[in-house]
Amino acid sequence: MDLSERVPSPGSANPSAPSRPEPVLLSPPDVGPLEESYLIRALRSGWVAPLGPEVDAFEREVATRAGTAHAVALSSGTAALHLGLLGLGAGPGRTVVVPTLTFVATVNAVVYTGAEPVFVDCEPGTGNVDVPLLAALLDELRAAGRDVAAVVPVDMFGACVDYTRLAPVCAGAGVPVLEDAAEALGATHDGRPAGSFGRAGVFSFNGNKIITTSGGGMLVTDDGDLADRCRYLSTQARQPVPHYEHTEVGYNYRLSNLLAAVGRAQLRRLDRMLARRRELRERYAKLFATAPGVRLLAESDPGANCWLTTIVVDPATAGWQAADLAAHLGTARIETRPVWKPMHLQPAFAGTPGAITGAAERLFADGLTLPSGSGLTEAQAGRVLDAVASFLAARA
Ligand SMILES: *Cc1c(COP(=O)(O)O)cnc(C)c1O
Repeated sequence: MDLSERVPSPGSANPSAPSRPEPVLLSPPDVGPLEESYLIRALRSGWVAPLGPEVDAFEREVATRAGTAHAVALSSGTAALHLGLLGLGAGPGRTVVVPTLTFVATVNAVVYTGAEPVFVDCEPGTGNVDVPLLAALLDELRAAGRDVAAVVPVDMFGACVDYTRLAPVCAGAGVPVLEDAAEALGATHDGRPAGSFGRAGVFSFNGNKIITTSGGGMLVTDDGDLADRCRYLSTQARQPVPHYEHTEVGYNYRLSNLLAAVGRAQLRRLDRMLARRRELRERYAKLFATAPGVRLLAESDPGANCWLTTIVVDPATAGWQAADLAAHLGTARIETRPVWKPMHLQPAFAGTPGAITGAAERLFADGLTLPSGSGLTEAQAGRVLDAVASFLAARA
């Protein structure tokens, strides 16, 4: 069907009205001819299934990038979190510590296993796990006789947790780390790649992430047994015999060979895409440097992949609120979003215990994520920066 039959074109009711500008999105997929050629090649190869040479190659390439020995390509980051948690023994009667400031998938994956989530609040400067608070929480859980299966730190908006401080806390408590690096592909901490810090790490290739397969994820680990276990669970826990033999319940979580091909093309462009996001971050930083009461989240982290540039506004000093800028940009058809609404405020997780300081709630109130996609054209970037500048100028 011709879409023009159903959808009136903008301004068609009044031909003399100026046409509305195209919306600028937060982090749209950045795909082009390279992805197209890889996808067509995979399609023509005949491997149209959730296995094949593109999946194998994509796994090797992501493992290399993450500095891990193994990688398991999966249908989503959420699936990778789920299987990683199962691989670490999460289940009924056990506890998993997760940040309250995260995307819901981190917590959902815990609930899928039957384990009980416990929330931990964040540091105001980065939005990442508050490490001293985590240490105290792990002591408290141990004293209460809780059996903690894992801690799942999230590398918020592509800035790694300070693993130099977090790793000894978890090791001291005897609790393995599953790194939720869904947003952090290409980021580093102390020169080491995101994804490599826990017993296993998880990436997402959702459409809005730093690279995309439209939907997909990956579990990376140095632990060969854990990788084998996750791969086995992702293919319906099928036993290696000719007939279909299953001794336990599995999942259908493998990544399509076609989508892995798209991921390989994206990976080839990752460094250029990171450079573009970093450049956008620097331009925002320059613009806000002279605005009182505004800071960038994780601004001082040189290893951040700059997935989403996020400002934090102190309304008392700035004289305006994050929501005011959001409204101003909205009228110019520029998308912004608040920082994640904390999980302890979500009706789905009402009553879930946690160590809550209020830091995540303040970031939710005062934070704003800005258009950060590597595919933003210069014209779009200029529109956003001009709109921010005019907002600030009116309040200077
Ligand atoms: C995107 C994201 C996920 C989930 O990834 P999907 O591929 O969408 O399932 C998990 N955790 C965090 C922090 C994310 O941002």
